[in-house]
Amino acid sequence: MLHPSEQRVPMSQEIESARKIRSALKQYWGFHAFRPLQEEIIGAILTEKDVLAVLPTGAGKSLCYQLPALIREGLTLVVSPLIALMNDQVRQLQKRGIKAAAVHSQMPWLDVQSQLNRAHHGQLDLLYVSPERFTSERFLTQIADTAVAGAVIDEAHCISMWGYDFRPSYLALSEIRRWFPELQIVATTATATPAVVKDIQEKLELKEPHVFQASVLRPNLRFGVWRPDDKMASVLQLLKQVSGPTIIYVGRRRTAHEIERVLARRDINVAAYHAGLDKDKRNEIEDDFIRGDRRVMVATNAFGMGIDKSDVRMVIHYDLPSNLESYYQEAGRAGRDGEAAYAVALYAPVDMEIMEAQLVREFPPEKYIRKVYDALGNFLKLAIGSGLEQTFSFDFNAFCKRYSFEKTEARSAIKVLQQSEWLVLEEGSDRARCTVHFVIEASAIYDYRTSHPERDRLINALLRMHEGILFHPTMIDVGRLSHLLDDDEEDIERRLRQLDRAGIIDYREQDDLPQLTLLRERVSAKNLIIDRQQYEFRKERRLAALQAMQKYLTELVCRQQEVARYFGQVLPDPCGQCDLCRQRARPARSNEAGLRTSVIQHLQENRCTLDELIGRYEFDDHPAVIDILQDLVDEEQVIHEPPYFLRT
Ligand code: ADP
Ligand code: MG
Repeated sequence: MLHPSEQRVPMSQEIESARKIRSALKQYWGFHAFRPLQEEIIGAILTEKDVLAVLPTGAGKSLCYQLPALIREGLTLVVSPLIALMNDQVRQLQKRGIKAAAVHSQMPWLDVQSQLNRAHHGQLDLLYVSPERFTSERFLTQIADTAVAGAVIDEAHCISMWGYDFRPSYLALSEIRRWFPELQIVATTATATPAVVKDIQEKLELKEPHVFQASVLRPNLRFGVWRPDDKMASVLQLLKQVSGPTIIYVGRRRTAHEIERVLARRDINVAAYHAGLDKDKRNEIEDDFIRGDRRVMVATNAFGMGIDKSDVRMVIHYDLPSNLESYYQEAGRAGRDGEAAYAVALYAPVDMEIMEAQLVREFPPEKYIRKVYDALGNFLKLAIGSGLEQTFSFDFNAFCKRYSFEKTEARSAIKVLQQSEWLVLEEGSDRARCTVHFVIEASAIYDYRTSHPERDRLINALLRMHEGILFHPTMIDVGRLSHLLDDDEEDIERRLRQLDRAGIIDYREQDDLPQLTLLRERVSAKNLIIDRQQYEFRKERRLAALQAMQKYLTELVCRQQEVARYFGQVLPDPCGQCDLCRQRARPARSNEAGLRTSVIQHLQENRCTLDELIGRYEFDDHPAVIDILQDLVDEEQVIHEPPYFLRT
């Protein structure tokens, strides 16, 4: 006879695995539930087949590959386009007690080797690498010698010319297949257009991948397009009609502050948000908004990435982005809780002309690009033939001022240089960056070390960690110095300041300056190669995207069906929620004549304020009612005795 506990059926592997996944989610991340598709994607990754996950930004793609990396044997390689992004993820993983590291070009060679060694000895679960690594035979040989469970290509759209963010270095990733034909590849991206998705599959040679793609349908979101004469009046109107947290997107920082002022004057709890505010201020505003202490956020597109606020009731686009991906992403921040919410685009036809002109300016002439490149070299004091893989804190404003460049144009030129992989410009991180530069001769350093033995260890560490530090300002990592010397960071900083005062080094702490890294050594401007074909291709793509945006704004079918079509999905039924669907559902009301009669009738019987009048009509009719009222006033059929309107 069996003992009762032995009668149990052995737990199936599947249940066992599901349990492991859930407990890792709680233990390492402290989350209680998965977001949509996360569990399915994790399951698929654990079957070791190739996976392609197309989920919007903020959906939680990182977790989908980080969690399997934890619970299975072997190293997971993660390819990521930006060093700042890599560092950020590694820091977060380490905070959670997960064994992760990164190797990239801004690290000293010795550190790269030491991380690869750790990987080789099974001491890492995740290793983040930049795509260029896959052109290094040395790296590939080392990896071939390491137990690798799979490779993840994050932001995989970077491999596609059809994406907005194409990076030639991502093409090096096709080397993976040549070296590791059997390796599992997981690709993740937020870009869902069919051309990009297809391109990713082809370039990475994904083998019958599991493809996960979230439906674009948002049944609780009411999309609408208003064409007001006065956008500000519409904003005020919308804020009256829809209560609850609201984001207003604008194109320029100045507009953000203008709207902020107008709303604040009407006692609306509002704040402006953009990348020009300092980090603390931005955090404060963001926290207030998320907690619900502030109702309205007027923001540039700098706001919203990864924010966790489910009860945003309305997103208004005062200015429009230049492609439907961005629009849908921003608008989609409304109503994450599934309750009814509004996404209203305020559109004036002239907006399109302005955007087109802006877009053209994003592609400056080649001659201008060469000029900016040359000025950059001079600004950074680089001789021809030098600068390879060096990183500089880059003060863009000072640069433009010194060479009298117009900022938008100069930024566009730098973008082109980045696209052609001459350099990378990354926004500053939240940690202060420190640069150190020895300002005395090598022989003098030697003398100083002898006469100040107590400072010898620090100087020695600086020289060892950063080769170029004798020649130019070099970014140093105080955290790592502190680790190496076993002193706390404040102490190291204090001693660096001492050396600075003693005239040995030039030590600078800079907040948040962008980092500019040269990917190739400086060449003379005439030898600067810019891939013309690619440049033209990108320009055309951007124009086509703008036209798609325009189509969305001016079409007459269901808004969500149009978005779905753009993303290669099919919505069999109209959403029934957008302005166009609702208009169709009310044929009698939707025509202007009907509305006009109704407004006249109403004013015949009552005098009423604008709000009272508007409040009698369907939300989607509000702009039309305002127009009609304006006409009636112009025709002197109605007079305005503030605050009342009445029929003459
Ligand atoms: P993506 O790469 O898809 O844009 P991220 O992986 O950066 O998104 O995740 C966005 C945010 O969502 C992060 O702050 C992450 O911690 C959070 N997140 C991810 N999964 C969950 C979950 N299951 N529960 C709660 N928060 C989550
Ligand atoms: Mg991501």
